[in-house]
Amino acid sequence: MGKPLRILFVDDSPDDVELLLYELRRGGYDPTFERVETASAMKTMLERQSWDIVLSDHSMPRFSAIGALKQLKLSGLDLPFIIVSGAIGEDLAVASMKAGAHDFIMKNNLARLVPVIDRELIDAAERQKCKLAEETLNKYHESLERLVAERTAALMETNEALRMEIEKHARMEEQIRYIAFYDTLTSLPNRTLFNDRLALALAHAHRTGETVAVLFLDLDRFKAVNDTLGHSVGDQLLRIVADRLKSCIREEDTVARFAGDEFTILLLGVIQAEHIISIVRKILYAIRQPLMIGGHELYITSSIGIALYPGDGEDAEALLKNADTAMYDAKEQGRNNYQFYTSSMHIRSFEKMVLESNLRRALDREEFVVYYQPLVSISTGQIVGLEALVRWRHPDRGLISPEEFLVLSENTRLIVYIDELVLYTVCVQCKSWQDAGFQPLCVAVNISAHTFQQPNLVEMVMSVLQKTGLDPHFLGLEITEGIAMQDIETTINKLNRLNALGIQIAIDDFGTGFSSLYYLKKFPIHKLKISRHFVSGIETDLHDQLIVASVIALAQSLKFKVVAEGIETEEQLNFLKQQKCDEMQGYLFCKPLPAEEFRKMAVRDIILQGSR
Ligand code: C2E
Ligand code: MG
Ligand code: MG
Repeated sequence: MGKPLRILFVDDSPDDVELLLYELRRGGYDPTFERVETASAMKTMLERQSWDIVLSDHSMPRFSAIGALKQLKLSGLDLPFIIVSGAIGEDLAVASMKAGAHDFIMKNNLARLVPVIDRELIDAAERQKCKLAEETLNKYHESLERLVAERTAALMETNEALRMEIEKHARMEEQIRYIAFYDTLTSLPNRTLFNDRLALALAHAHRTGETVAVLFLDLDRFKAVNDTLGHSVGDQLLRIVADRLKSCIREEDTVARFAGDEFTILLLGVIQAEHIISIVRKILYAIRQPLMIGGHELYITSSIGIALYPGDGEDAEALLKNADTAMYDAKEQGRNNYQFYTSSMHIRSFEKMVLESNLRRALDREEFVVYYQPLVSISTGQIVGLEALVRWRHPDRGLISPEEFLVLSENTRLIVYIDELVLYTVCVQCKSWQDAGFQPLCVAVNISAHTFQQPNLVEMVMSVLQKTGLDPHFLGLEITEGIAMQDIETTINKLNRLNALGIQIAIDDFGTGFSSLYYLKKFPIHKLKISRHFVSGIETDLHDQLIVASVIALAQSLKFKVVAEGIETEEQLNFLKQQKCDEMQGYLFCKPLPAEEFRKMAVRDIILQGSR
């Protein structure tokens, strides 16, 4: 059996084909074949089945070897293509080879046929192998490329994820940094950042010899805004204040929210006090501009303390502390102003600190006691009322008069507790006297400006009355002129409500403040009390005489009762009698006494014993 060989003949002569087949069989092949003689037939045959070789005549009536080569190329097949032809010229043979034929066999030399075919088949097989190898290699390359592409994409994805993660971290860090160094409400630097910048500024100033100013600013009565209008209004107010502050300083200066309603400002490279003063004035002015929040028109003022480096402190802590001390001084001076730190403030503030902590303890330990001093009708000599006066029974220092601790307790707001305590004690005492059958007398309690400003003052008084069961007609409140000078609308409103309860209102130490007569007329007042400082001068000072006389006349024309305080002599009493003063209060008649002593005296002198 010969080697199978699938031949496509491109030949117009079946005889020639037979000849070739014969030759091949002789050469050991077992050929199968088809013969075509047109391009289209060749095309069909190439498509229809597989071939091992193409044997083509050189020229045919309707086709040629060159055409057949083209057709083969078009089919994309890589088959050995051998031209078998009669004698043709050298030129044609070369052209055919150039066109892609693998060999050229002369019909008169068919002996070459089999060896050429053998060789071409081997070559073709080689080529095929190479092609396969190349394809495999290509595929391998392709998959490698794909793999690389996939890996790269995956890597890029991871990279992107990593980048995003890093960014997220950076953002978080940024946020943490922000929260650590900025105030979230106002977006101002916070205390930490301020301290950092201050320390930096001081280190710099230490080298250059520059002056650094530290301002400590506190809003006046901010708590009242928060308490009455709520925290959201308070927050908005703080934001507005922050903006106003920022607008007052230069880029290189720092304004920080230190705490609550406290702001600190760092001014760098300031040379003259005038420069600082002009900035501080600008700030005070900016802050006190009216503002609208949620339909409320608000006014807020601020107090500023100033400490300078190096004069007022070597380090940040000392400067801040001293600026704070100066700020408190500014508040004491009546608020809405500024104070430069002076060293005497420090001593005062230290004493105050000691006293303040003692005061707080005194409240806890109930060291406050109430004394009572009678008010006497000048015409009848009868006791018509009492004034309650607080004292501090200090464990070491003995009895301390209110003058010594009231200013401090006002500044620290402890006064509110003290006043409430006194009010409560008085109501309990008064009720127990009444229950014991003594003639009911009206007792007046002093209410400080701070206490009066408490938004819930009226409710507080009502609750004390209710708890103690005292009839409001036997309670009086003594307020100072200063109160009237504050928020007029609120003051009138509170006074009206207290008045409606039946509580008697007296203006204490009349003439020492600066009440406007206009408002005096608008207030529901029962009494004016003339300060003992005018009364004490009656005998010696013509001015005091005039003042006392005119206050009495004023009270009479406004239909208020008028009381003179601090009567120590008969002469003073006589003068007051002449002027038709209604009531008097003073050592001449009776000193302030503790409740128990007062009761004893009352029993002895049958003062309180009306109904007994
Ligand atoms: P004030 O309300 O004007 O009380 C009258 C002051 O004159 C009292 O001083 C009283 O002891 C004193 N005084 C009365 N008669 C005479 C006299 O003949 N000669 C002299 N030299 N003084 C006389 P005190 O008790 O030291 O109180 C001083 C001020 O402290 C009071 O003045 C009042 O404004 C305030 N105060 C007293 N108790 C309270 C309180 O419970 N709350 C508040 N917020 N303030 C109070
Ligand atoms: Mg009084
Ligand atoms: Mg008085």
